[in-house]
Amino acid sequence: MLRKLLLLTNLVFLFRLFGDAHILLYHRFGDPRYPTTNTSLEQLRKDFTYLKKHHYKIIPLQKLVKALKNHKPIDPKWVVITIDDGFKSLLQAMPLFKEFRYPFTLFISTKPIQNGYPDFLRWEDVKKIAQFAEIGLHSHAHPHLTDLSDEEIVQDTKKALMLYKKNLHTQPQSYAYPYGEYDDRVKKILQSFHFALCNQNLGAVSAKSSIYNLDRIALVGKSNLKQALGLQYLPTQWIEPKAYPKDRILRRVKAKIEPKYKSALLYVTGYGWRDIKVKNGLIDEKIGLKLTKRRVRVIIKVKHSKINTKILVRSRYGVK
Ligand SMILES: [Zn+2]
Repeated sequence: MLRKLLLLTNLVFLFRLFGDAHILLYHRFGDPRYPTTNTSLEQLRKDFTYLKKHHYKIIPLQKLVKALKNHKPIDPKWVVITIDDGFKSLLQAMPLFKEFRYPFTLFISTKPIQNGYPDFLRWEDVKKIAQFAEIGLHSHAHPHLTDLSDEEIVQDTKKALMLYKKNLHTQPQSYAYPYGEYDDRVKKILQSFHFALCNQNLGAVSAKSSIYNLDRIALVGKSNLKQALGLQYLPTQWIEPKAYPKDRILRRVKAKIEPKYKSALLYVTGYGWRDIKVKNGLIDEKIGLKLTKRRVRVIIKVKHSKINTKILVRSRYGVK
């Protein structure tokens, strides 16, 4: 009996050791005018009830960032909730967040708030929400960052910082890219402001994740939380492509993953999944696909739903 119990404890321990944390992303609540970014209040309650029933611990983003910075273990029951854009519809969902006592990070773009666009929160609302949640930055004017020059990115960020500080009397600790779009150049500039950086790539967060490249799971409509929370982080060294190919032909995908994997699945936006081989941890796949979208995700997935994403965004600037 005791032996069985010990074995069980070990198994639980192992399971806990190998799990990853997850960052969820919402946009609008109870606003059916925008089905591609909306979550109904009924669905949000379903999501929260699921999280509670399965003993997930909803923690502030900064707790996860701190653990990563200090190389502390990541609790696989940790879930971070983030909300992008600062739409007014959040006010309808606030009672639910308070009822469940779930903290969250609200990423705001300062321009629509400052200009009083009707669909967006006002500074008074943001100040009240700030008593309960972390307020992160989501740029000033919500631009496609990869299409801006270095100077323009810095200017947009400085404007956002100025308005943030003026209204909230503090410094933001985190930043989420508008449209989830970035490349190495954009990332480097925002990293110089010392923000933790959130992307919009499907995935999980492990102790090996970088605070400058945090994957988030976007939930819209009827979400499949169970599946989303089953995703794990696959440590990956991307070798090729480094950026969106100028001639729009994705010739080759080359990356290093852990050598224990012998096969993997590869996803390219517009082309779906395909089986690929892995030799001694090296993926080297000649594909030659014409990219049709300006934003393309290349995803590597191995067993146990371990995934890693490389986003490619067509840009007038950046890497040659
Ligand atoms: Zn946004």
